[in-house]
Amino acid sequence: MTALPLVFDAPRRGKPPRHLADLTREEARAAVADLGQPAFRADQLARHYFRGVTDPARMTDVPAAVRETLGEALLPGLLTPVRTLSADGGRTRKTLWRLHDGALVESVLMRYPDRATVCISSQAGCGMACPFCATGQNGLTRNLSAAEIVGQAVAAAAAMADGEVPGGPGRLSNVVFMGMGEPLANYPRVRQTLRALLAPAPWGLGLSQRSVTVSTVGLVPAIRKLTEEGMAVTLAVSLHAPDDELRDTLVPINTRWKVGEVVDAADAYAARTGRRYSVEYALIRDVNDQPERADLLGRLLAGKLAHVNLIPLNPTPGSQWDASPLPAQREFVARLRAAGVPTTVRDTRGQDIDGACGQLAAADLADGQADGDVAGIPTVATPAAVLEAPVPLGAEADA
Ligand code: SAH
Repeated sequence: MTALPLVFDAPRRGKPPRHLADLTREEARAAVADLGQPAFRADQLARHYFRGVTDPARMTDVPAAVRETLGEALLPGLLTPVRTLSADGGRTRKTLWRLHDGALVESVLMRYPDRATVCISSQAGCGMACPFCATGQNGLTRNLSAAEIVGQAVAAAAAMADGEVPGGPGRLSNVVFMGMGEPLANYPRVRQTLRALLAPAPWGLGLSQRSVTVSTVGLVPAIRKLTEEGMAVTLAVSLHAPDDELRDTLVPINTRWKVGEVVDAADAYAARTGRRYSVEYALIRDVNDQPERADLLGRLLAGKLAHVNLIPLNPTPGSQWDASPLPAQREFVARLRAAGVPTTVRDTRGQDIDGACGQLAAADLADGQADGDVAGIPTVATPAAVLEAPVPLGAEADA
């Protein structure tokens, strides 16, 4: 078990340049006016940006003489793709991004027959120190700005719209905050990101509330704040153990906010939003997968507006832990269902591009590139990385 410290306050680093997506509409209009331009140009920039157009030359409704100035002032390039890894015949794509200060983050776009989901990062690294999570092992580098988070979703939306993902042009339908970082530890920027994801064009991506999922270790005060925001996005809580003794070790933040407090906060969220929350539970062999723990979890959640999403552990390099074997998974599911708790098992394909849950550790990837690995799009010919495809147990092919 690691003894990494919990880190709440991100180290202070040079701030990323200001970007349109960091601003409210009013602030953006004021910024444009400061540059001596009519305020409506802010709406024009927003329309281009949220459609994935960042090259000022393509903004033909903006006078050529001011395109450059406005672009530099409000649409600075914040995310530089370092490389993209594909799986599942290109329908799963993980992108490693370099930020203005060299920090690295990843996002993963996954196309399914009925939807396209992007898994985005909210921090470079993470301070929550969960011992089974690759990101958690490398500590927190810094918070991302809203525009750095939004930009990952905009890039995914543009890739879908441009037909870059096999299956023809399509629409980004879902966003999950399940990449690097603890979203609720970067609250103001994540709130601004949510606004942009939900806002209709031209000021956002126009996603529906239910198709945006914020996943948290359980920062109770922040869950309560989110409850008051009036944005009924889907809440996912990373529980991983039903009892405090074990959860203290698997999700170290539990030493501050206990299982009962986290579940209470999630219940209050469900009561306010009317939306079922999801409880994430990584099944770790002989650590948290005992039948008694399934029963305990069942009693904890029975009758609540919650469903359990079991994730067979994706072992991280050097970890002594492994996923629960299939019979143990089946038993766990059966006991939860018997307790009346809706339960699904998340598909875990995709370890081959390190795109699966908890495996995003961009620093390692970048190191790998130093030994002459070619930039470009190496295609891995093995199955998909699927971060959020809950399937009933028994339906998955190769768990
Ligand atoms: N900080 C947020 C987002 C983290 S990633 C949170 O903790 O919820 C999304 C989910 O993947 C979390 O439930 C996280 O606990 C889980 N996860 C992390 N590492 C994992 C691993 N190695 N195997 C399976 N799930 C993992």
